[in-house]
Amino acid sequence: MTGGASGIGRATAGLLAERGARVAVLDLDPSPVPAPLLALTADVTDDASVRAAVARAVELLGRLDVLVNNAGIGAQGTVEDNGDEEWRHVFDVNVLGMVRTARAALPHLRRSAHAAIVNTCSVAATAGLPQRALYSATKGAVHSLTLAMAADHVREGIRVNFVNPGTADTPWIGRLLDAAPDPAAERAALEARQPTGRLVSAAEVAGAIAYLASPMSGATTGTALAVDGGMQGLRPRPAAGR
Ligand code: NAD
Repeated sequence: MTGGASGIGRATAGLLAERGARVAVLDLDPSPVPAPLLALTADVTDDASVRAAVARAVELLGRLDVLVNNAGIGAQGTVEDNGDEEWRHVFDVNVLGMVRTARAALPHLRRSAHAAIVNTCSVAATAGLPQRALYSATKGAVHSLTLAMAADHVREGIRVNFVNPGTADTPWIGRLLDAAPDPAAERAALEARQPTGRLVSAAEVAGAIAYLASPMSGATTGTALAVDGGMQGLRPRPAAGR
């Protein structure tokens, strides 16, 4: 899996290992990754680095059944706020990063009897969120890319699905809160946006990814699993209304 050194990825790598999988974590900085997880340095924006890390993972683990494409970065602002270079970079990580790892993994996945790819998308792909033009555009691309990949590989027995987390309590959100003028107020605003009144946990997203990665979801492909506290689908009335 990619981006497994922190947040959602770290929780997912831990859960998959707990359930008996042998997991390789590809990350820019895999130093926080504890054994028995296999820590491999890789930059998803660099095709050679991704190919080398996937080859090394297969060499050490002997096979590949599941790819979790989770590495991603954020961007804030409206269309007026991010320059072309930042647009290219965030697309390079969030979208092309998944293309590169899938390209490197597919020949190995074809040999598995239970092959699955799970992409980490976001509620931002389908709900208009303020100040997230670039980030949302990348996740919209991940949404479409996942559906196209699911169609391309269904006859090869490779399932491709995605999770759509809402605002999840990870170091990423910690960094955003730290940068806000009033972190406590910012956190309260994010919590209030969730119909459940609280942020999503990394463990909850990990559980959804593990389900889509497992043969238990063997008839599920081209499907989004929302893990967003109801943010996309529910319209509760404000202030505990019924
Ligand atoms: P995080 O910042 O805690 O972890 C992201 C990991 O990706 C880090 O370990 C980082 O080193 C790695 N990474 C970044 N760029 C990389 C690159 N070029 N090559 C390899 N690894 C790289 O973030 P998180 O909150 O756990 O987010 C994980 C995924 O979940 C992202 O795709 C993000 O878009 C998505 N997501 C997060 C939230 C949220 O609220 N936290 C909500 C919806 C979707």
